[in-house]
Amino acid sequence: KIVVVGSLNMDLVIRTDSLPRMGETVIGKDFAMVPGGKGANQAVAAARLGAQVAMIGCVGNDLFGNKLVDTLQENHVDTRYIKRLDDVSTGIAVITVNRGDNCIILDSGANYRITPEDIEACVELIAGADVLVTQLEIPLDTVEAALKVAKQNGVQTILNPAPAQKLDDGLLGAVDVILPNESETELLTGIPLRDEDSIGRALQVFQEKGVAESVITLGSRGTAYLSGGEVQFASSFPVKAVDTTAAGDSFVGALAVRMAQGAGIKEAVHFCNAVGALTVTRRGAQPSLPALSEVEEFLRK
Ligand code: ADP
Repeated sequence: KIVVVGSLNMDLVIRTDSLPRMGETVIGKDFAMVPGGKGANQAVAAARLGAQVAMIGCVGNDLFGNKLVDTLQENHVDTRYIKRLDDVSTGIAVITVNRGDNCIILDSGANYRITPEDIEACVELIAGADVLVTQLEIPLDTVEAALKVAKQNGVQTILNPAPAQKLDDGLLGAVDVILPNESETELLTGIPLRDEDSIGRALQVFQEKGVAESVITLGSRGTAYLSGGEVQFASSFPVKAVDTTAAGDSFVGALAVRMAQGAGIKEAVHFCNAVGALTVTRRGAQPSLPALSEVEEFLRK
């Protein structure tokens, strides 16, 4: 069983040929409302891969909150621990896509109203889990409370430190596996990732900070991690990438699933790279996350 503590956002996406300047209106097209938020994405990723998943989070009592919770339920995620508030809106990301690149305005809204007290109210749920997964789109003291409750109860913890921000060693000491991408690694370790050597040094820094294991995702280059003090690389699968949204989230969800099944990092990353590869071949956040059967078929080819 996996518990995800994190964000739920509705992505409102419009494509445009040019971005508006102040005071200007430009015509866009292909509007889409896509369920997202790193927490919800990771919960759905794990559930589609066959895991039993519960999510702890917070939404507003509005259209977007309803839709996000419905989508989690359709994916068999337990939503009983998602708080609903009347006086704040659900997290919203307004995204304009311009020739493959995007500009985003994010209102975290209800995501910033999930508190350490909410975590205390879920101790039993967390204690009964195999793995707890969290990210940084909710208040840091809530992240820390979740990690500590999990550790005190012998539950394995995964921290996806996104969006990147500095973290103190006390928090990192409660993390079993940290799972950053390249830019998050650079901010957390202060080491620019230029080559194999710098990746190795960054992995070492995490270890010195008390994190048991670290896995750095390197986009189309795959993944790096430490095994027996040596840097290991697991290359990605060659696919035609159309939209990298939620690639990292799918990888996090997949790692949680494999860890809950008792797999070590080394045996898990091959599977996670396959899940990430399938995710980048499709558009959107949650709609692009693959089912277990699709991953198994992809790995057979
Ligand atoms: P994030 O989305 O958090 O920035 P990454 O871009 O590092 O994360 O991607 C996460 C994982 O998704 C990678 O480790 C890899 O397994 C997979 N992936 C990402 N981009 C590609 C790609 N172009 N081709 C194949 N796999 C990819």
